[in-house]
Amino acid sequence: MPAQELDQVVNLCKRRGFVFPSAEIYGGFRSSYDYGPLGSLMLRNVKDAWVRTMVQLRDDVVLVDAAILGPPQIFEASGHLANFSDPLVDCTVCKRRFREDHLDERDCPQSKKGCAFTESRGFNLMFKTVAGPVEGSGAEVYLRPETAQGMFVNFGNVLQTSRKRPPFGIAQVGKSFRNEITPGNFIFRTREFEQMEMEFFVPPADSAQWYSYWCTERLEWYVNLGIPREMLRLRPHAADELSHYSAGTSDVEFLFPWGWGELEGIAQRTDYDLTQHSTHSGSKLDFFDQATNERYVPYVIEPAAGANRTMAAFMLAAYDEDIINDEPRTVLRLHPRLAPYKVAVLPLSKKETLTPLAKDIYASLSSRYMVDYDETQAIGRRYRRQDEIGTPLCVTVDFESLEDDAVTIRERDTTQQVRVSIAGLLDELGKRLGF
Ligand code: ATP
Repeated sequence: MPAQELDQVVNLCKRRGFVFPSAEIYGGFRSSYDYGPLGSLMLRNVKDAWVRTMVQLRDDVVLVDAAILGPPQIFEASGHLANFSDPLVDCTVCKRRFREDHLDERDCPQSKKGCAFTESRGFNLMFKTVAGPVEGSGAEVYLRPETAQGMFVNFGNVLQTSRKRPPFGIAQVGKSFRNEITPGNFIFRTREFEQMEMEFFVPPADSAQWYSYWCTERLEWYVNLGIPREMLRLRPHAADELSHYSAGTSDVEFLFPWGWGELEGIAQRTDYDLTQHSTHSGSKLDFFDQATNERYVPYVIEPAAGANRTMAAFMLAAYDEDIINDEPRTVLRLHPRLAPYKVAVLPLSKKETLTPLAKDIYASLSSRYMVDYDETQAIGRRYRRQDEIGTPLCVTVDFESLEDDAVTIRERDTTQQVRVSIAGLLDELGKRLGF
């Protein structure tokens, strides 16, 4: 059964080295997190799985990696300077600040006791800073609040250099920053986070069809990576929820322990962004279709997901507690592509006679997969640890291995064990992992 409480996953993250509170030795830095040895691997796997599906397995999407710092002109044109704000209210009783549209999520005990709110006012979520060495005379710059603008401002560059033509997409994975009024729910909402976004440029007449295509594709991505379908839904935005640029948006939502929450938004952005940047920059951002002799500004469908939120959802869905041989265990039933380690090599004993063979096996498997090596503690405890961190397969090297050139593969989900020859080990692991 998936985790019922967020704390089950938060505790596992801390205990096993997935996610730590940031700056913990200085008392913590509110709502910031550092990804530890296992969490950094898993977060990377989430992003790699996205790039694999969205770029590698398609011939119509290319990847970019644009700057995080940007000049005000970009955000003037995109509408972020004028519109990227949340409604902020102050409570005159508990003196805390809240997002007016999130008042139900108030978590401080005082706030439940008769809050009295001020009128709401728009609070711009962008972080502003100064670039340049001379204090007082530096240039004003912004940390990007989404990766999307990096794709729009490079539309012309990509069109000229990549030999792509609509329908085609530009994808990007990277950090974004928002000065959220109420960060919280662990890594669900933080001020610094990572996005996985793609701008898909299409002839205007085809935009409705592509919008529906991407809604389906994106929901399936989560299902294919192991989230049960009943924990996901696609929720179309009501007209009064739509962003200023959107002609239609649907969110992929996940059933978090506190209710449905957004993992990803799929928006029809029309020609808003390319037109805005053309007007503000004076550079023409359009496409000349030689087949029809027509020039047009492509429409855009944007699937925009968050890597950290998605990682939390994968962990919550994969979390399970069961009983094996009368012993309770915690097991993360992660899809093998997302698991931090794909395989753990476990020599039965630390004795010198076993170490060289075990290390050889570790070295050969490591050239293909991220592999853990653990020779401490009793074997049963080592299996439990690997179960808890989601390692799909363990390879146990025992004294018989020295005689029969074989090892035991143990599966996380079933705990079944099979003996296989060392010569055929890589093939066997590949079959079981699916890659
Ligand atoms: P929300 O309504 O939750 O603030 P949003 O609709 O503003 O999110 P988008 O602008 O659509 O979010 O961003 C796309 C994705 O980026 C979101 O679906 C989410 O996964 C991720 N994301 C946005 N803000 C944050 C944040 N503060 N912390 C972590 N992830 C975020």
